[in-house]
Amino acid sequence: MSEEKRTEIGELGEFGLIEKLSEGFEPGNKETVKGIGDDAAVIDAGEKYTLISTDMLLEGVHFDLAYMPLQHLGYKAVAVNVSDIAAMNGVPKQVTVSLGLSNRFSVEAVELLYEGVKNACTEYGVDLVGGDTTSSGAGLVISVSILGEVAKERVVYRSQAMENDIVCVTGDLGAAYVGLQVMEREKQEYLANPEMQPKLDTYDYIVGRQLKPKARMDIIHEFSELNIVPTAMIDVSDGLASDIFHICKQSGLGVAIYEDKLPIDKQAYETAAEFSIDPNACALNGGEDYELLFTIGQDDFEKIKNHADIHTIGYMQAKGKGKTFVTRSNNVVELTAQGWKHF
Ligand code: ADP
Ligand code: MG
Repeated sequence: MSEEKRTEIGELGEFGLIEKLSEGFEPGNKETVKGIGDDAAVIDAGEKYTLISTDMLLEGVHFDLAYMPLQHLGYKAVAVNVSDIAAMNGVPKQVTVSLGLSNRFSVEAVELLYEGVKNACTEYGVDLVGGDTTSSGAGLVISVSILGEVAKERVVYRSQAMENDIVCVTGDLGAAYVGLQVMEREKQEYLANPEMQPKLDTYDYIVGRQLKPKARMDIIHEFSELNIVPTAMIDVSDGLASDIFHICKQSGLGVAIYEDKLPIDKQAYETAAEFSIDPNACALNGGEDYELLFTIGQDDFEKIKNHADIHTIGYMQAKGKGKTFVTRSNNVVELTAQGWKHF
């Protein structure tokens, strides 16, 4: 009897699986400028490039309706897609929204979800132009596809960082992860004692970072005003370490990241301590901050050095020097990625 080979998806991991599946799908159309492997695909639309990306959120995997209000979920589903367009230095234009709905959901519930979709569309100047609606055996699925555009000379890939480029990140890191820990704890306490009211007010910032992440379109507009084109960029969805690895891999470089430069919000820092977790580990490996991680040439440093919301956290180095993490006590250790694992 022949035994069929069976490989667990976990053995390859998410990125290994995508690599394997996409083998042999080399783009054949001349308009396909960039296919699989960046935050969005890049299509030559004549005068400009069109950007296209898609992201799916599943109940029980990406969100728990015990603490995720439906309006916020609708907003987040659009915002995380806008974030991928931002990561290409582009501007979002249209979305389609597809839903899988079980009979647990009422019309009113779906309307709430769409209030959030609408808020995000209004905030980011995006038109809802279609989608698909189907029933789901269990749970809620929301999948958004997004179109954006970028001037050809301003598109930014993950692959064009240069040695000695400065590594920058916007906003702060780790808060969305710590916010999730707070909501998980409150949920467990609520399940144990439904009389209890959740105590979330002292955690408002970090909980908001998890429930209602913003896409950093403000930064994209500033790049244009400051006349900066980053050499490489990605949005921080899986965690800083995991996401800088994509830039390293695709640019063929190593990196040095400095612990004392990691931007961590005070509430996130204190709450991490309350949970006995290392705030730096949250900043390095916690996902879903949706900040922009990018590299710029040394010549552009002057333009961003006084920016209140852009932090320089390291520099790109030759591949042979590896990916290093310089601790507060000046020890140089290997940077390891323990980002969000789907499998
Ligand atoms: P991001 O985190 O920025 O949304 P992903 O890590 O999800 O990006 O995806 C990385 C790349 O792999 C993207 O170019 C994406 O379009 C592509 N990709 C993901 N899943 C598949 C799939 N099942 N088939 C083909 N391409 C995929
Ligand atoms: Mg991305």
